[in-house]
Amino acid sequence: MTFVRTVLGDIDPVELGITYAHEHLVIDGGRPVQLQPEFDLGDIDAMAIEVGQAAELGLRSVVDAMPCDAGRNVEKLAELSRRTGIGIVAPTGLHHDRYYGPAHWSHRVSVAELADLFALDVTDGIDALDYSGPIVRRTAHRAGVVKVAGSDGGLSPRDERVFEAAAEAHARTGVPILTHCEHGTGALAQVRFLADRGVAPEHIALSHVDKIVDRGLHRELLSTGAFVEYDGSFRWPDSEPNGTAQLIAWMAEDGLDDRIVLGMDAARRRYYRVHGGSPGLTWLLDGFTAVLQAFGVDATIRHRLFVTNPARVFAFAGPPTRAT
Ligand SMILES: [Zn+2]
Repeated sequence: MTFVRTVLGDIDPVELGITYAHEHLVIDGGRPVQLQPEFDLGDIDAMAIEVGQAAELGLRSVVDAMPCDAGRNVEKLAELSRRTGIGIVAPTGLHHDRYYGPAHWSHRVSVAELADLFALDVTDGIDALDYSGPIVRRTAHRAGVVKVAGSDGGLSPRDERVFEAAAEAHARTGVPILTHCEHGTGALAQVRFLADRGVAPEHIALSHVDKIVDRGLHRELLSTGAFVEYDGSFRWPDSEPNGTAQLIAWMAEDGLDDRIVLGMDAARRRYYRVHGGSPGLTWLLDGFTAVLQAFGVDATIRHRLFVTNPARVFAFAGPPTRAT
């Protein structure tokens, strides 16, 4: 094991504890908020209260998933971590194309330039100005994950350039890769694309794939050696079985629960109690834990999902295995 890189420094992976693997604790303006005011999560006084409630139930660490120039604010993430005592892993990388628009700089730079930007966030510190302009002011807070996004059904040419840059940043730094799978699709192609460029699947977490409740597909995904990140648990209508819990129960039966991590991907104000919404950030540790119990997912398995598995996938890869 190597280390996990949080905004306040590197820690032993065993120190992560109960971890939410894909959250949006801070979305501070940017195009996402222009497009959808519900994404505005810039108030860290409010978020500190919400995080504190989850910490009371045992939450210790959170992986934030808002990458470059889409509302990321690393100084706010660091302040939130200091105030709550919760470890926060901040991302570099790029979100889906729609959060930038056609004129964005990311369309006009080379893969090597993108890889440099990602790697420098990891090694030297995230830009206080969030790569939103020509001036870069590196902070003391370094990125611990590269977040990249695929499109519906697969990787667009733009996505391919971003994934290639993520693979290059991984090769240079060992940083783990967290992907967005649009509507849960395209995950297998993402693993293949990254593996072809030298990324061992054990350093990849594929997000949102529980949107597709298909036992065979998930067995196939997990047998690549990649991790999956399930975050749809509170979105199933009451009239339907909880697809996320069902998948976890199936994968546990199939002996594949050692590569599943959980999150909420709660990117809207209406999911937080402090903003008058529900189910609140405590959901995975109260309501959903009860649902899991009802599906026969016992405490040993839950410890894997919340503690052991995140410590494995969010640990940096060891010294470079690639000759350069
Ligand atoms: Zn997300």
